[in-house]
Amino acid sequence: MFDPFDPLDPLDPLSIEACFPGAITGQAEVTCPHCNAIFTVPVRDPLGEESYRCQMCGGGLHVDWGNDTVTQL
Ligand SMILES: [Zn+2]
Repeated sequence: MFDPFDPLDPLDPLSIEACFPGAITGQAEVTCPHCNAIFTVPVRDPLGEESYRCQMCGGGLHVDWGNDTVTQL
């Protein structure tokens, strides 16, 4: 019988909460809307919006991580 409070259950909510933040934060690859260069940027808020500057052409870009869109600034 399934016991949701079994401490050995791999889907235990506490175990998921302990490892989830590290899995979704950190870095992500974006494609520059100006020159199509692909580079890695730091992600502070995986569901928010952030602005960066292309490392190749210097053009500004705005990333909406929640909607997974990149637009020119
Ligand atoms: Zn660029």
